[in-house]
Order: sequence, then C-alpha cells, then structure tokens
Amino acid sequence: MRLKTPTTSALNFLPEQHDLGSLRAAAKDCRGCDLYLNATQTVFGEGPRLSRILFVGEQPGDQEDIAGKPFVGPAGRLLDACMEEAGIDRRTAYVTNAVKHFKWEPRGKRRIHKKPRMNEVTACRPWLDAEIKAVRPKLIVCLGATAAQSLLDSSFRVTQKRGQLIHLAGYPLILATVHPSSILRAQSEEDREREKMHFVADLMTAAKALSQSSPASEEHG
Ligand code: SF4
Repeated sequence: MRLKTPTTSALNFLPEQHDLGSLRAAAKDCRGCDLYLNATQTVFGEGPRLSRILFVGEQPGDQEDIAGKPFVGPAGRLLDACMEEAGIDRRTAYVTNAVKHFKWEPRGKRRIHKKPRMNEVTACRPWLDAEIKAVRPKLIVCLGATAAQSLLDSSFRVTQKRGQLIHLAGYPLILATVHPSSILRAQSEEDREREKMHFVADLMTAAKALSQSSPASEEHG
C-alpha cells in the first residue's frame, strides 16, 4: 500500500509499473517533500515516449504550475527558439525538471520563484531517474546548476564545466549548461544576446553529439 503521509522521498510514491503514463499518474499524489503544499499541481515531464534527448530544468515556474506543463513560460519559449537555432526539434525532445512542484514566495500579489533546497531536489530524484529509465535518451542536457547538481554532484559548477560532454556510470551522456531563465535576467540587451549565443553553442554541441550516436531506430526499436 502506498503511503499518503508526507515523507522525505518520492520513492514511496513510485508506482509498480514504470512506464511514463503510470509514473505521471502516480506523481500527481506525491508527498515526498513539503513542496506540494503550496503548489497547484505536480508538473511532470513531457515528450515522446522514447526521446533521444532529454532536457532537465530546475523546477516549474508560475505559468507551468498553473498549466501543469513544463517549459511553457518565457524561459520555455526561449528554450524552444534556441533549440530551433541549434537544430534540435523540441517535438522530439523530452523536457522535465529536477523538482516537480513549484516552490515560491509571495511578493505582493506575485508568486516569486524560490530555489529548491538540496534535500527537496534529492527527495524528487526518484521521479527523474524513473523518467530517464523510461525515456532512454542518448543525451541529457542539464539546464542550470540545480539540474546538474541533482544528476552529477552537489559541488558541480556549471560556470566551470558548461558545454562539456560528461560520462556518468549508468547514465547516457550528460551536458550541462545554463537555465534559459538566467539569459532572460541578463542586465542589458547586449548581455542577453551574448548569453543566448553561448547557450545556442552549448546546444549545438549537444546536437552534434547526438548526431554522432547511433540512430533512434537501433536504440529504441
Ligand atoms: S517536489 Fe517532488 S518529491 Fe516533493 S512532493 Fe513534489 S513530486 Fe514529490
């Protein structure tokens, strides 16, 4: 029987079947940490059942929390545009977050994003691992420090290792870069444009690595 009381891990809420449909349905009731208390709903990953590339962000934002879909706000639109520039079709990519509930604090009438703590990221990790196993990507792109630290190491620094292909035992190739929201926060138009170009260059490295890996039909047949 599944526990319904709050715990410190999503593990207690994983379903018996680990296909995406079962995972998504079970994640709706997750109480693996306290973040469900102030969020509208669980925002699970989306994309084709078998995708060669999987993007992991930090957590859903205000618009994602309301829509129940990942990367549908301003950062998601920028990600779409940059993926297109890099030659990656978003319709063929699976997009998700390290943390599935929106963490925020009030500022006037607005809900302002609040960075999840590492224990919340760790609590949510079973969902991400299950998604990776179900989707079986050839490459994972971590968007921002929280996603990279969730998968790699809590000391991982995106500023030092962005755009590099990383081998981690038991996982597909991993590449870490910034979160598109950091580009939107750039101080000037010039900074924003420069950051965007750097981000697209990282995505082009990902696209190239993907093109050099075996075709989807061989892997996912
Ligand atoms: S953030 Fe993750 S672990 Fe915490 S309640 Fe939501 S789905 Fe569960």
